[in-house]
Amino acid sequence: MSENSMNTVLLIEDDPGDALLIKEMLEQEECKAQLVTVERLSEGLSFLQQNVCDIVLLDMNLPDSSGLPTLTRLLDTSPAIPIIVMTGLSDESFGTDAVKSGAQDYLVKGEIDGRILKRAMFYAVERKKLEIALKQTRDLFKRQARIDYLTGIYNRLMFSELLEAELQRARRYGSELSLIMFDLDNFKKVNDTYGHNMGDHVLKEVAQLVSDSIRAHDIFTRWGGEEFMVLIPKSDQSQAVILAEKLRCLLAAHDFGNGLQVTSSFGVTQFRVGDHADTFTSRSDKAMYLAKQKGRNRIDVL
Ligand code: GH3
Ligand code: MG
Ligand code: MG
Ligand code: MG
Repeated sequence: MSENSMNTVLLIEDDPGDALLIKEMLEQEECKAQLVTVERLSEGLSFLQQNVCDIVLLDMNLPDSSGLPTLTRLLDTSPAIPIIVMTGLSDESFGTDAVKSGAQDYLVKGEIDGRILKRAMFYAVERKKLEIALKQTRDLFKRQARIDYLTGIYNRLMFSELLEAELQRARRYGSELSLIMFDLDNFKKVNDTYGHNMGDHVLKEVAQLVSDSIRAHDIFTRWGGEEFMVLIPKSDQSQAVILAEKLRCLLAAHDFGNGLQVTSSFGVTQFRVGDHADTFTSRSDKAMYLAKQKGRNRIDVL
């Protein structure tokens, strides 16, 4: 441990004798951190809310909380703080349960000395740092796996998960659910004429324009290359058509750079009893192809 990295140690311990022992051990190890001792969980929680603290040494049996809930309540309010649980000789199994529940370590009272305590604190702090870094990386990967790299909107994987949830809601509560699919018209020509980079730019701008024009609970995704979907909870077909028309006009009127204009064809459908993800999405796909067949830059409904 660089000693400097530890400024405040919070000891939550109701037994004055045990608290004194810990204090003496830290002094004996010339630990420069400030030791704050409280006797109740509630005092510990409020200290953590108001102060910066590097580590908590926790007796799990306190006047106002006992057993694992003592630990979990602490973790709920301060998930980033490393916690070492102090157990008695008779309840060592609590210690392993505590580690499984998120404590960094456990120490058995009566079996420790200053050196052991100091080393345990060092490892607890370092391991917590790694745990947090790992969680951040995991969250990032999880996010990246669900976000389209080019446009920053949801990809098909994320959309499929959200669609399942919305379908269940529609089935259970009979709430309306509509779907708009749209595909950029003659997009191959945009790439062929202006280059792939310009094509990418158009896709990004389409995503931005549409994102800015839908409501927060509408679910927008890049379904494929130049195909997009908007899932609209609590809306029937006629409301979805109104939104589709708004988007169609918005995109068709937009100048994507140097006067480049791109139209889109839309397919709209509404949830029907018996629908599942495939029947629902393929109906919007068929409606969109009708719009293509009938001349593009238009909306069809199925
Ligand atoms: P239609 O009106 O019938 O939809 O014609 P289209 O040319 O848009 O359709 P087609 O399916 O023939 O071509 C789709 C084009 O979209 C071809 C493909 O290169 C392009 N595309 C797909 N994904 C991307 C991408 O990420 N970036 C770029 N620049 N182009 C893409
Ligand atoms: Mg106690
Ligand atoms: Mg197309
Ligand atoms: Mg296409």
